[in-house]
Amino acid sequence: MNKERIVCQVEECIYNTQKLCSAESIEVKSSGNMVVGTSAGTRCGTFEYKEGTHLKD
Ligand code: SF4
Repeated sequence: MNKERIVCQVEECIYNTQKLCSAESIEVKSSGNMVVGTSAGTRCGTFEYKEGTHLKD
């Protein structure tokens, strides 16, 4: 995967380096009620909180 092309604004994630994703791969899932009509209905399943002590949502 060309990591340089994944721009991500989630700076709280351990894989985020200056708004680029450094993960080997990512998994994008649906969120909420599983009805995806816009980008708001998706989420990154690879996200890991940078500080390491955050409770799972
Ligand atoms: S793993 Fe997901 S949330 Fe984390 S930097 Fe990559 S795209 Fe963003």
